[in-house]
Amino acid sequence: MASSLVRGRYVVCKVEDRHTPQVIEDGAVFQRDGVIVEVGPYADLAARHQPDEVLGSPDHVVLPGFVNSHHHVGLTAFQLGTPDMALELWFASRYRKRDVDPYLDTLYGAFEMIESGITTVQHLHSRANGPLERIHGTASDVIRAYDAVGMRLSYSFNVRDQNRLVYEADDAFLRRLPEDLRAETAEALRAQTIPLEDYFALFESLHREHAGKERVRVQLAPANLHWCSDRALGMLRDHAARYHVPLHMHLLETRHQKEYARRRSGGTAVTHLRDLGMLGPHLTLGHGVWLTEDDIDLLAESGTMVCHNPSSNLRLRSGIAPLNRLEARGVRVAIGLDDCSLNDDRSMLQEMRVALKVHREPGMDDRVPTCPQVLKMATEHGALSTPYGTHIGTLEAGRAADMVVIDWKHITWPYLDDEVPVVDAVVHLARTSGVRTVLVAGEPILRDGRFTRIDKQAALEALAESLRVPLRPDELRRREFSKRLMPHVQRFYADEGYLDVPPGQPYMHANCRH
Ligand SMILES: [Zn+2]
Repeated sequence: MASSLVRGRYVVCKVEDRHTPQVIEDGAVFQRDGVIVEVGPYADLAARHQPDEVLGSPDHVVLPGFVNSHHHVGLTAFQLGTPDMALELWFASRYRKRDVDPYLDTLYGAFEMIESGITTVQHLHSRANGPLERIHGTASDVIRAYDAVGMRLSYSFNVRDQNRLVYEADDAFLRRLPEDLRAETAEALRAQTIPLEDYFALFESLHREHAGKERVRVQLAPANLHWCSDRALGMLRDHAARYHVPLHMHLLETRHQKEYARRRSGGTAVTHLRDLGMLGPHLTLGHGVWLTEDDIDLLAESGTMVCHNPSSNLRLRSGIAPLNRLEARGVRVAIGLDDCSLNDDRSMLQEMRVALKVHREPGMDDRVPTCPQVLKMATEHGALSTPYGTHIGTLEAGRAADMVVIDWKHITWPYLDDEVPVVDAVVHLARTSGVRTVLVAGEPILRDGRFTRIDKQAALEALAESLRVPLRPDELRRREFSKRLMPHVQRFYADEGYLDVPPGQPYMHANCRH
């Protein structure tokens, strides 16, 4: 398909500020070869262009495709037997995870994302065992799945070179364990140990293999402060500069991570990164729940971004991020689903609603999130947190034609007051079942609710079939191992005083004052 005209009763082009979306009534987007040529009134564009196809109608609303700025896997932790619990314990429980085919698993996640209007994903690949060739194979399977379904991808592999189980060195933690568990734990840690040089070799080969592709970018991801030595962080910073790629880093997800940073350097996690010269617009911090006021100032001054994962923060008892303070200080914030949404699915439509409503501090002032604000987080800001930057994220001439077309009647049925603003209606009321067509680079990858490139039912059947076998011996062993390990992980945090640290005020904006 060389060209198309995508028509809507409303075309939401972009969000100018937190109260002002740019909307064209009875509008259209004309795209040719995947690039937006013109956006304007439908009648004008229809008269000026001869598209190969017209998509949408006066019964649809057209928006920029959403960006899920923080994603890891298809089948969720809960689906794989790890219940919701405090993040630090959840990590240990995840050892029980059975092996899932990475290609089918990635497709499963991609189906749900696309069906909710997500066109671009920041895939943060983690926890694959070495050696390098094996990780490269898994990474290639993940990338191949997005390519098969047609989704735009920013891929990165989480770099971890220390503190794999708790917030102390692996050897020190091993010494805490009883004899019978120590050897098994050491073996599990050995399997996860990847030489730093191999991480960068993986990045360089994937970066080279996918260079020049329209829908694939490869970037870098320091897993989290406690998981990275200063040497690793320095190498990540230098590689990011050399290859001109962004960094996405989990940071300050829990108050225990805030305490870890204090013990490591005497300052905060953000001052640690500042001292290493890592802050800047190329860095996005995933979560950022426990930022201080001074941290937020540093982010604002340096242009560092944050990726807000509100449902995940709720489910894993991390707290509520200071979104209102970040917004007030002008920090750009994206949204991530983190495979941990309230419905255990991948609906950006719902996640926008969570972000909209969780931060409603008591009061009557104008500091709580607005609908245009969360839409901007899910589109333009998400785009800026990936290597695509200003290539995607809004519907403007010259940008990639990534769009979601939603049934307007589905949103307004059976009645909606005609003074409700369009963006407010979408953010409050749109459901995955109302998403009709999704375009990436001008190509409808979901058309009238059906995937155009791949048989979803067959792929999900294959996934189910692959798991319809008894657990293999090593999967059974891992399941038992995670159960035996758990009390020791719990004891570490108690013995080391992590649980005694005053919780501060883990809600609303106030948690950054402590
Ligand atoms: Zn994450």
